[in-house]
Amino acid sequence: MLKQILFAFALVITLAVFAWTMRNIFKYFSFTKKLPLKQIPERIRMTLKVAIGQSKIFRFPLMGLLHALVFWGFLVILFGSIEMVIDGLAGSERALSVLGPVYDFLMATGDIFAAIILVAIVIFLFRRLFMHINRFYGTEMKPVSKADANLALTFILLLMVSLLGMNTFYLLECAFSGNKPEGVFPVSRLLYGLFEGMSPASIHFWHEFNWWFHILLIFAFANVLPYSKHFHVFMSVPNVFVSRVSPLGYVENMDSITREVKLMLDPQAVFDGDAAPPSRFGVADVEDIHWVNYMNALSCTECGRCTSVCPANITGKLLSPRKIMMDTRARMKEKGPGMIKKGVDFSDGKSLNGSYITEEELWACTMCNACAQECPVNIHQPSLILDMRRYLVLEKSAAPAGLNTVFANIENNGAPWQFSPHDRMKWAEELYMNETH
Ligand code: SF4
Ligand code: SF4
Repeated sequence: MLKQILFAFALVITLAVFAWTMRNIFKYFSFTKKLPLKQIPERIRMTLKVAIGQSKIFRFPLMGLLHALVFWGFLVILFGSIEMVIDGLAGSERALSVLGPVYDFLMATGDIFAAIILVAIVIFLFRRLFMHINRFYGTEMKPVSKADANLALTFILLLMVSLLGMNTFYLLECAFSGNKPEGVFPVSRLLYGLFEGMSPASIHFWHEFNWWFHILLIFAFANVLPYSKHFHVFMSVPNVFVSRVSPLGYVENMDSITREVKLMLDPQAVFDGDAAPPSRFGVADVEDIHWVNYMNALSCTECGRCTSVCPANITGKLLSPRKIMMDTRARMKEKGPGMIKKGVDFSDGKSLNGSYITEEELWACTMCNACAQECPVNIHQPSLILDMRRYLVLEKSAAPAGLNTVFANIENNGAPWQFSPHDRMKWAEELYMNETH
């Protein structure tokens, strides 16, 4: 009974802290702009392929496979974690063993995945600590980003060690008590021999220790994740679902501008929907982004795949698409609490577009979409870059000099070139002259 009370207490604290964190994060969503979600069947297909099937991660075959195995392993191991919560509250042992062969299969798969994840995490940590992988470096990758990644990997490592420990000592306890173990544990069965000489009391202690250590680690991890880049563990699947379904290079028109142009062409034009003038053109700060941009920022794994293929970054420009996402997340974290207290008009004198991301970065983008193509969680960085440029052009008249010439030509000549529309057919005059001679 004492174990149940302690467990319920730990669970309530975990859920309370998690709910408080999530409440703040979801409140930040309310400051962003609305964007309707359409094409649901297409989104389901994309989620199954990119998120569950991990299709984009395989561009780096070995590391991709290891990462995919970690993801799939977590899905299976989640079943065992749910069972631990039931056992902790009900005082039962292996409560879901009533599922019979399904249980045996899931336990065996989870046990094997625990060993695979353990090996994968050791490899990931080794690469991060002892190898110089270019995409893990960059101006945006501060020591805290690296510490964050290593801490999360260490958490996962300990989770797998304690899971295998729990299963191994469970088998030993069953052997001593003469009970038939519930479930099948192929890897733990191999580890079993290492601890056979231990006394029943020690075996019981280590079983209990691993059980508590594992579940408390899960509780702690769940509350650390929202403050870490590993929040993608929660966010990446929903992010893929809400991600872009239109072709990557497709540029959405701005409704407000389209409306103005149509009204200039036809003052009688009538439009459906809200005709109120927009409060802002483009993106100056986090309250101007739409909610999918913010979801993107929360889902960024900081893997650097986008930056590693960005032609601007490769050729030494300041732009890094990963930084665009990290800056958006950091800016919301900085400004969000102020907006909660003082409302969406709160200003701290800074802005995402300017204080975090410079004009030089924004204008370095070629809009090639290589970053979005590579991103394993379907983040679309160019759309946010484009909206920040739109703000610079439409509200600050701060386009680069070359573009200002183009804009002036379009305004005066109806084309990007410096020729009068009256001279447009001059090139053909000579042809006509030749024909008549
Ligand atoms: S779209 Fe822009 S940010 Fe993305 S890869 Fe191309 S140049 Fe880099
Ligand atoms: S935006 Fe995508 S590709 Fe780039 S670092 Fe984040 S998760 Fe990786």
